[in-house]
Amino acid sequence: MRITFHGAAKQVTGSAHLLEIGRYRILLDCGLFDSDRLDPESPNRQFSFDPRHLDAVIVSHAHNDHIGRLPCLIRAGYDGPMYTTRATADITSVMLRDSARIQREDVRNAHLRTPGVEPIEPLFDLGDVEWVVEKLVRFRYSETHEILPGVFLTLHDAGHILGSALIQIDFEENGRRRRFVFTGDLGRRNMGLLPDPTVVKDIDILVSESTYGNRELDPYDKLIKQLHAIVARATRLQSKVVIPAFSLGRTQRMVYCLQELFTLHKVRPIPVFVDSPLASRLTDIHRDYPEAYTETAQRLMDQDPMYFGSKYVEFCATWDDSRRLNFLPGPMVIIASSGMCEAGRIRHHLRHVVEDPDNAIVIVSYQAEGTLGRKIAEGVERVQILDQWHDLNAAVYVLDGFSGHGDRNDLAWWYEQTGGGIEYGFLVHGEPEGLEALAPVLQKQVVNPIQIPDRLATYEV
Ligand SMILES: [Zn+2]
Repeated sequence: MRITFHGAAKQVTGSAHLLEIGRYRILLDCGLFDSDRLDPESPNRQFSFDPRHLDAVIVSHAHNDHIGRLPCLIRAGYDGPMYTTRATADITSVMLRDSARIQREDVRNAHLRTPGVEPIEPLFDLGDVEWVVEKLVRFRYSETHEILPGVFLTLHDAGHILGSALIQIDFEENGRRRRFVFTGDLGRRNMGLLPDPTVVKDIDILVSESTYGNRELDPYDKLIKQLHAIVARATRLQSKVVIPAFSLGRTQRMVYCLQELFTLHKVRPIPVFVDSPLASRLTDIHRDYPEAYTETAQRLMDQDPMYFGSKYVEFCATWDDSRRLNFLPGPMVIIASSGMCEAGRIRHHLRHVVEDPDNAIVIVSYQAEGTLGRKIAEGVERVQILDQWHDLNAAVYVLDGFSGHGDRNDLAWWYEQTGGGIEYGFLVHGEPEGLEALAPVLQKQVVNPIQIPDRLATYEV
C-alpha cells in the first residue's frame, strides 16, 4: 500500500491521510488547518489530491481539525460514502452546521468592513453540509465491515471524545494479510468519564498522533483534588469560577467532574452554569449514548434525572440567561466557550470577573500562542478583553491534565499493549518537540525506523 500525508504532518491541524490499497483510494479524515478560512491563500482552500478519485472516506472523530473540510470534498466532486461511528455522525452534523453559520457571518462582516471589495466565498454553506450528512455511514465500535472488495474496516473506541475512533483496516496484499491502524486522537487513561483507549494488536503499519509526546500530565485524582480546592475557595469567598472550555468534549468533561465532586466526593455543591448554545446541543447528543461512558460514570449519572445535568447544572439558552449571570452573586461556576477565549460568551464573563482577586479563572485546555487564554494562563498583569484593558487580579489555575489527549506515558502504554513487531511506524499530529520526543518511545515496538513525514510525503509500505 501507499500512504500520503496531506495534513497534520509536523503540525496539529488539517488531519488528512490518503491510503492507496490496490486500486482503491481511501481518505482518513478531512480536517481544517489552523488558518484564516477567508484568506484566498489558505491551505483550507485547495486540495492536494483529487477528491473525485476517492473511493471512501473514514472519519476518526468530530473535532474540526478532523472533519472541518468534509463539505469541501463534496464541493470538489466527491460522491462516495463517509464512514464513522454513530456518535461522530451526530456530532459532525452539528459542528459543520455551526461552522457554516460562522463562515456566513465572517463573510458578511468582512464585506461590511470593506464594502468596495468583492466578498470572498465561504469554504462551504449549509447546503454542502446537508450533503455530508447524507453521505455519513454509521458503524458501531468493534464491528467489522467490508467497505470495498477485500478491504475491511473496524472502528475502536479511542477514548478521546464521545464517538472518537481508532481506525483499523485489514486487507490482503501479494498474498499477505496486513493490518493498518490510525490512532486518530488517542485519549488519556483513567479519566473517569470515557473508557481507556482500546488496545489493538498484530499491527503491520501504524500512524499515531503525538500531541503530548513530550509531556507528562497530572493524574485524574490530582486534578479532582485541585478542582475541589477551587470550588471550596469559591464557597468560602462567595466568588465566581470561570472556566473557558471548548463546546465539544471539554465542556461535558468539566460538567461531569463537577457532578463527581458533588456526588461522589460529597463536596458542598455550588451552582454550575454552562453558557454556550453549541455546548448545549452537543450535550444533548452526549445524553443519547449512555453506554459510551465508564461504569462509574454511568452509575453516577444514573442518579440524576438526566446525564450531564443535575439540579446544580443550568444551561443558558438565551443572551438574557447569559447576562443574568453577571448580576447573580457567587458562589458559582461558569463554563463558557470559546476554549481559548478568542470569541463567544466567555469574554463577557471574563470581563466581569477578572479584576476581583476573590474570583478564579481555570484553564483546562491547550492555549495557542497569542490568544487571550494564553495570556491569562501566563498570568500577565493586564489583559485586553473586548477592546478594554483590565487588571488581571483573579486567581488563575492551569489544569491542562483535563486534556482529551494521552500524554507521553499513555501513548507509551498503548504502544506496549500492541505487542510490538510493527513493520512501519509514522508520527503525525504534533509539534516538532512532541514528535521527536515520542519517536524513540514508539521505536521500541517498530521494526523499521520511525518516520516523521513532511506534508505531502508519500511512502510505499
Ligand atoms: Zn481531537
